[in-house]
Amino acid sequence: TEKGSADLYFHYYGCLMHQQNMLQDYIRTGTYFAAITENPADFEGKAVMDVGCGSGILSLFAAQAGARVVYAVEASNMAHYARQLAAANPGIGDRIKVLHGKVEEVEVPEKVDVLVSEPMGTLLVNERMIESYLYARDKFLKPGGKMFPRLGRVHVCAFSDETLMSEVVVDQIPPNVLVSNCVSKTFDFLTISEQELYEIVIPLSLQVAVPCTVHGIASWFDVLFDGSQTQRWLSTAPGLPVTHWFQLRCLMEQPVVVAQPGATVSGELRLVAHARQSYDVHVTLRAPPLTPGGPPQESKGKFDLK
Ligand code: SAH
Repeated sequence: TEKGSADLYFHYYGCLMHQQNMLQDYIRTGTYFAAITENPADFEGKAVMDVGCGSGILSLFAAQAGARVVYAVEASNMAHYARQLAAANPGIGDRIKVLHGKVEEVEVPEKVDVLVSEPMGTLLVNERMIESYLYARDKFLKPGGKMFPRLGRVHVCAFSDETLMSEVVVDQIPPNVLVSNCVSKTFDFLTISEQELYEIVIPLSLQVAVPCTVHGIASWFDVLFDGSQTQRWLSTAPGLPVTHWFQLRCLMEQPVVVAQPGATVSGELRLVAHARQSYDVHVTLRAPPLTPGGPPQESKGKFDLK
């Protein structure tokens, strides 16, 4: 049931081991640290909300950057640890107010100037926590307030890799298996609605320079911290230092073959939200006929992100 899956979800984040895994992702945590502390103009004297504070690490960064108060909202039992962590950092931590509950259910005494959050999952949107980030925006952010991160982009590319065996693979993609340009879709967290995340369609137009067999699509994301003093991207792209998100590949049961240099593989990537914290992923790939006068190739696949 939906309730059961939410319980499981928050139980997972209630475990220190999983928070540790995120904390130890130096690219992730270090980029948040830099993005927040390099923009004191956005934090000094401000009211901040940390949506899904987990251990409270982003709240500490915001307080360190000069926030007057940080409302640190956490639904899982990790909230107790966040409270301890704040208490163990006098001078900074006393400006952090931990609220144990879902952001959809808590009350705060004022609207905030800034939201910070780390709601990204596989393919950016998996886990469906960005919806909670947008909910917090609509309910708690002052007009003209800032969001850290401010936008996210999903990137999709064709890959060719004979060695891949399972349908859905989350690992570090060797850049040399990527065989096309990327298409991207941008989600502006300041303006997008929750409903726009229920069904996401990314049209594919992937030019394959060198003839090869396209086994499926590869995907990753990045997010932008649009500070008023510095801008920073947190990227999970292949070839860059790896993060705990790695990259995603969906392997088609039926590959498509690109016989002509520069031919285009078209189709779409369609993400359909589930009642639980995930998406169904539908991939359609089309390629020109294998032989002159033959039928165009079409391959369809459905993948469960879990
Ligand atoms: N901000 C922390 C944790 C990120 S993981 C860090 O950067 O290290 C996301 C956290 O958000 C998890 O701890 C999860 O329990 C919490 N969360 C997810 N959805 C939530 C919601 N709707 N309300 C409150 N907390 C939520």
